[in-house]
Amino acid sequence: MTESAAPVPPDHLLGVYSRTPLNFERGEGVHLYTTDGEQYLDCLAGIAVNALGHANPKLVQVLKDQAEKLWHVSNIFTIPGQEALAKRLTDATFADVVFFTNSGTEAVECAIKTARKYHWAKGDVDRVDIIGFDGSFHGRSLAAVNASGNASYLEGFGPRMPGFLQLPFGDMDALRAAVGPTTAAIIIEPVQGEGGARSLSPEALRELRAICDEAGALLIYDEIQCGLSRTGKLFAYEWADGAEPDIMCIAKALGGGFPVGACLATAEAGSGMAFGSHGSTYGGNPLAMAVGLAAFEELTRPELLAHVRDVAGYFVQQLEGLKDRYPDVVLDIRGKGLLIGIKLATPNREFMQHARDQHLLVAGGGDNCVRLLPPLIITTEEASDAIARLERACQAAQAHAKAAA
Ligand SMILES: *Cc1c(COP(=O)(O)O)cnc(C)c1O
Repeated sequence: MTESAAPVPPDHLLGVYSRTPLNFERGEGVHLYTTDGEQYLDCLAGIAVNALGHANPKLVQVLKDQAEKLWHVSNIFTIPGQEALAKRLTDATFADVVFFTNSGTEAVECAIKTARKYHWAKGDVDRVDIIGFDGSFHGRSLAAVNASGNASYLEGFGPRMPGFLQLPFGDMDALRAAVGPTTAAIIIEPVQGEGGARSLSPEALRELRAICDEAGALLIYDEIQCGLSRTGKLFAYEWADGAEPDIMCIAKALGGGFPVGACLATAEAGSGMAFGSHGSTYGGNPLAMAVGLAAFEELTRPELLAHVRDVAGYFVQQLEGLKDRYPDVVLDIRGKGLLIGIKLATPNREFMQHARDQHLLVAGGGDNCVRLLPPLIITTEEASDAIARLERACQAAQAHAKAAA
């Protein structure tokens, strides 16, 4: 066995992670290999990052080619890759303008600043409130944890920032009551990731859009996890007609593992962000743009999107079978596309260990879920292998629960 139950205490790293003592040195497609050469099936993909699989040959080649030419210059120069990727992103979405970042959190930070500045530039200086929802996750900067619906992430970091409030996820009555003349924007994940793969209906997204329009507030989608083809559409909001946002944050799959994010906005919503309003040293550097462009080309292929919908359908059908066969372990299957949540009756941390015992990697999630976030290129055969391993994990969880009872 390569893994012990107790996490290895880090000697020289800030102790903010409880790390699984698995040490991977190589990856290929949906598989990871430990330093001892053991193979794992990766249904976590670096938390929805490695959407095109590990060591994707096209991305590897583009990275190598760009590495020999130019890595970084600074945003005080023209970076042609930024214009090229921004054009692709805006052609494919509601947006007109893009700001590139190194992470999802920074994209959220940019979105919040963009929304407030928009109202400020119009003379509406009291419109500062950002409304978020329970169970949401928007990142770890101070503004992002204030916008997120998880109070524990705020603990010990000083007073709550003014101008952020949280409402129950999907409670439109509470939202209508809360929105007013000081509301700058509503921020929401169309499909919650960390919160346990909770998906908003098309009707709810349209209602959000209507509420924002009536109140003169902006609508921000955080598609950092659910975007970029994960749900079987390029962006999750496309599942609803007439629910386009004003601003959208993306990251994770955008670089397929190379750190890159972006904040997208309509020309109107972005109009407050003038020269000097924002910036980044690394954001959108030539290396990130080369990989981002190559990844975007792959992620937008219609065959990939059709494939995601097919494999996701297979997963859900098979998982419903597990739910029927192990009702004392699996309570619910939720999410959208290949952002799948399995709500468990047994502790999710234990289940993740049972899965690892089967050399299957899955992600944790709120509401006692585990999430399946496999690379989007996972084949039906590989999905079937994942289901077989999950079934053995269910058996282990069942046996464990019986022994404890
Ligand atoms: C991961 C994630 C973030 C934060 O992104 P980082 O790259 O870790 O900063 C924000 N929002 C959502 C929905 C995420 O899944």
